[in-house]
Amino acid sequence: ASKKVVVVGGGTGGATAAKYLRMADPTIEVTLIEANKHYYTCYLSNEVLGGDRSIDSIKFGYSGLDKHGVKVVHDVVTAIDAKAKTVTTAGGQSFNYDRCIVAPGIDFKWETLEGYDAKVAEKIPHAWKAGSQTVTLRKQLEAMKDGGTVVIAPPGNPFRCPPGPYERASQIAHYLKQHKPKSKIIILDPKPKFSKMGLFTQGWKALYGYETDNSMIEWRGSAQGSNDNAVVKVDAGSNSVTTGFDDTIKADVLNVIPNQKAGKIAFAAGLTNDSGWCPIDLHTFESTMHKNIHVIGDASIAKGMPKSGYAANSEAKVCAASVAALLNGQEPGTPAYVNTCYSIVGKDWGISVAAVYKLAEDGSKITKVSGGLTPTDATPEMRAREVAYAYSWFDNITADIFM
Ligand code: FAD
Repeated sequence: ASKKVVVVGGGTGGATAAKYLRMADPTIEVTLIEANKHYYTCYLSNEVLGGDRSIDSIKFGYSGLDKHGVKVVHDVVTAIDAKAKTVTTAGGQSFNYDRCIVAPGIDFKWETLEGYDAKVAEKIPHAWKAGSQTVTLRKQLEAMKDGGTVVIAPPGNPFRCPPGPYERASQIAHYLKQHKPKSKIIILDPKPKFSKMGLFTQGWKALYGYETDNSMIEWRGSAQGSNDNAVVKVDAGSNSVTTGFDDTIKADVLNVIPNQKAGKIAFAAGLTNDSGWCPIDLHTFESTMHKNIHVIGDASIAKGMPKSGYAANSEAKVCAASVAALLNGQEPGTPAYVNTCYSIVGKDWGISVAAVYKLAEDGSKITKVSGGLTPTDATPEMRAREVAYAYSWFDNITADIFM
């Protein structure tokens, strides 16, 4: 009998899963449904903001997946019927499946931020899904006068790419230092600390005068449990924000990154719990809400792993191997997972966090087997090498997903 898998969302997680399913078992009929004709990677999109990279260099198409026998359909999935095992699209198509893999990425909790919504985001971009908003934000930075203020408002936890907002601040500082050295970046954070904080601030001190009177970057964190420095209101008319401290700050360039939840279709399909994310069996990524539907990537609660592209890619491989086994009446194998996250802080200054994981004995979480950070006493050569590794990682992962 034919075995059918429908993959919903052809981003980092979905495209990887589709390709690896076909590699695991070429008798499985794999249909990938993706809304857009092109995918812009969020990874290295901060370098587009910094001006060292073109938007075209982070743009990928789907023809590579054809070669693997993946049937790619460009349409928007509007419903998944877990009982009938069908997926329906806005274009009126319907697809049957034996198993479905859902990888829709994130959506935004617009309601948690007064004055900010999808319409306002066209003018005041979040740029947390790479593409046209990345270009808009870059143009705004280019148009800004020397001496201008850039305000970045990171989201609360959990969110896509924990080091992302701080890499973004670094890349913008890298640009301003060269072209608009009198300018400032203010980060208004709802959190008391952030990913790779020690390594970021070390780089900021060396490159951007952090914590001096002349610092290009100012980070204002909120105390644990408070919302003091978080942005609670946006005024698009005056390009200003109000913090929980009732402080109003006017920006020349404003980058608001709202709080996040699983992509819309995950809610429509009943795959989310009260947290706004999708609970899963960490071995197979099968939803604990609906049988025969698996959720991977940012939308899933992959307890122990960050919401990152490399994590989504790794989860996709574990999921694809499990789905192939299950469709062939076999036990899924023992999973292993991996993640590395590079951040480019400035010229010849890269940092990273890396980890290898396994499933905990009782299956309740994904636990770290080994890993580490760039050492704080790294030599200049080591830091420059981290940048080279970041580029090499990018070439490898995008080839792994799309070619
Ligand atoms: P996505 O890659 O967002 O894919 C979701 C796809 O589903 C999209 O293509 C979307 O169009 C499609 N879709 C959604 N709903 C539907 C629907 N109903 N019908 C059809 N299609 C649909 N990660 C790293 O590992 N390293 C980094 O250096 C890194 N840097 C980052 C920097 C920034 C600024 C940001 C914002 C993120 C960064 N990330 C990085 C994180 C990474 O981009 C995400 O974790 C990753 O993309 C998650 O993959 P995903 O498959 O879950 O979602």
